[in-house]
Amino acid sequence: HIHCQQIGSQLGVLFSSLSQMQSGKDTLTSLLNRRYLPVVLKHEVTLAMEYELPMTVAIIDIDHFKEINDSWGHMVGDRAIKHVAELLSDNIRSSDYIFRYGGEEFCALLPGVSAAEALAVGERLRKRIQNLRIPHQSSSVAPHLTASIGVALREAGSPMSNQELTEYADKTLYRAQTSGRNQVCFYNPAASSLPGETAL
Ligand code: GH3
Ligand code: MG
Ligand code: MG
Repeated sequence: HIHCQQIGSQLGVLFSSLSQMQSGKDTLTSLLNRRYLPVVLKHEVTLAMEYELPMTVAIIDIDHFKEINDSWGHMVGDRAIKHVAELLSDNIRSSDYIFRYGGEEFCALLPGVSAAEALAVGERLRKRIQNLRIPHQSSSVAPHLTASIGVALREAGSPMSNQELTEYADKTLYRAQTSGRNQVCFYNPAASSLPGETAL
């Protein structure tokens, strides 16, 4: 009877994962899967062009995540990824999108967000991730996370391609990581005088 119950519960997990995969969701976080990014980005950039609005892509990468797994175990690592996913989903507008971009990486698509707003969103997310505490049963000390964020903006009317926009966000994330982590770097090729901006 116990074995039947275990099989039943495992089948439940399998079917729920399968239905999430079929609906394009990442099974751990229920966020959109990375493979849908190009099609969603294309659709949103087309709309942004029609309404002459900017488009922002932010890539968020948890810092030294390997150490979280090594020190706390993979189950806590998984829980940390889920908590960050929830935090990101809870801190965006209904018109924004969050994708699971890689293992400990997320991509936020923020249509119609200006340069100043993009910086503010990035900074808000960074601070909230820094303040997040991952619940942990066997210790009162909770794992502590920080994240590096690369933000790239496509101004309305810019000739920047969608691929370039994500590449710029990726390169800007790299800059945030190589210049100390736990920070937001911003790239906007159309402007040069914004506070916090870093040209590539
Ligand atoms: P950096 O600060 O340079 O980003 O270093 P990092 O350790 O965060 O990044 P790195 O790419 O070196 O390692 C990412 C780690 O994330 C390695 C991989 O095992 C782990 N990881 C990826 N996906 C998952 C997952 O779904 N669950 C867990 N627990 N770990 C994962
Ligand atoms: Mg990474
Ligand atoms: Mg990382």
